[in-house]
Amino acid sequence: MNRPYNFSAGPAAIPPEVLQQAAAEMLDWHGSGMGVMEMSHRGREFISIYEQAESDLRELLAVPANFRILFMQGGGLAENAIVPLNLSHAATVDHVITGSWSQKSQKEARKYCSQVHIAASNEADGHTTLPEPARWNLSTGTRYVQACTNETIHGVEFHELPDLKSLGCDAPLVIDFSSHVASRPVDWSRVGLAFGGAQKNLGPAGVTLVVVREDLLGHALPICPSAFDYKIVAEQQSMYNTPPTWAIYIAGLTFQWIKRQTEGDASGIAAMERRNMAKAALLYDFIDGSAFYANKVARNCRSRMNVPFFLADESRNDDFLAGAKARGLLQLKGHKSVGGMRASIYNAMPLAGVQALVDYMREFEKKNT
Ligand SMILES: *Cc1c(COP(=O)(O)O)cnc(C)c1O
Repeated sequence: MNRPYNFSAGPAAIPPEVLQQAAAEMLDWHGSGMGVMEMSHRGREFISIYEQAESDLRELLAVPANFRILFMQGGGLAENAIVPLNLSHAATVDHVITGSWSQKSQKEARKYCSQVHIAASNEADGHTTLPEPARWNLSTGTRYVQACTNETIHGVEFHELPDLKSLGCDAPLVIDFSSHVASRPVDWSRVGLAFGGAQKNLGPAGVTLVVVREDLLGHALPICPSAFDYKIVAEQQSMYNTPPTWAIYIAGLTFQWIKRQTEGDASGIAAMERRNMAKAALLYDFIDGSAFYANKVARNCRSRMNVPFFLADESRNDDFLAGAKARGLLQLKGHKSVGGMRASIYNAMPLAGVQALVDYMREFEKKNT
C-alpha cells in the first residue's frame, strides 16, 4: 500500500511494516487467542513481549548494565516533574535553556526545587544556536544538570553530549531525548538519566522511556507518588501499576524494525544514524541553496530530526501546504510559536520521502518566482 509521507512532529509516522505486523496480530497474538490489549500484564505472554522489548532496546542503544530501563506513563512533560521528585533532594538544580521544551522543564522543576539555576541560555539568539558547554555557568553543589538534546520545535540539536566531568562538575546530566532517541548512539558515560516520550521516534503515544543510572534510584522526595518513584518502578519491572501494554508492544516491534535496518555496512542504530544524516543533508543543502526558503538555525547545531523552514514570501504559506498535501506530503505546518514550516524526518521517514519533499519544494519555488 502506497501511503503519503507524513512529516508530523509527533505523534509521528510509524514504519508501515510495524503497523502491518500489529494489524496482523491484532485479534490473535502468536496463537494466544488474545490481542495484546486484552492480556494481563502479569501473564506469560505479555511478560515475554516486555522482556524482548527491554532487551532489544538495551542492545540497540548499548545501555550499560548499571542503567535501568523503565517504561513509564505521563510523557516527557510528566518527567519534568518526576525527575526533580526523584533526583533534586528539593535542593539546587541547573538547567540549560535551548528552546520551548527546556523552558517548560525549568519552569516545572521550580515546584520541587529550592533553586533552579539557569546555567546557560540561547534565548537572546531566538533559540537558533547552542550555548557552548565550556561557558556554562554551573552552580556548585547542583544535584543535576538538565538539558533537552533535541529541541523539537526550534530544530536545535546537540551533536555531542556535554561532558560535565571535564567542566569540573560531578553532578549527573539529565537529558530529554524525546525527539531524537534511537536516531543516533548515546554516550552513556556522560549521562545520568535520559527520558523521552515514545510518540516521536519509538511508537505510539502513551509510553515514556526512562534510562537511569542505578545509583540515582532511591532518593525520591517523600511527596513523590509511588507510581513515579524510579526505585519502585525499577524494582517492579515497570509493573508497579499497569503499564501501557499496547504502546510497549508497538515500541517493541519498532525496536525489532530498527534492528533489521541496514545502510551500507551499518545496521541498527548506526544504520539509522547514517540514513538520518543523509536525509538531513539533502533537505538542508536544498534549503541553503535556495533564496526562496530559509532555515535560521546555526549550522553546527541543526537538528537531523526536526527541520523548521520559512518561505521568503510568507503569504504563500497556505498555498505551499495545500500543494504539499495534494502531493501526499502531510503535516508540514510549523509549530504556532515559530511559524513557517517544519519537516520532521524521524527514523520512519525514508530518504525517498525527503526527496519527494525537496522535489515539491523546487517545483513550488519555480512556479512562484
Ligand atoms: C514532545 C516532546 C515533549 C512532550 O511530550 P509529552 O508526551 O507531550 O509530554 C517533551 N520534550 C520534547 C523534547 C518533546 O519533543
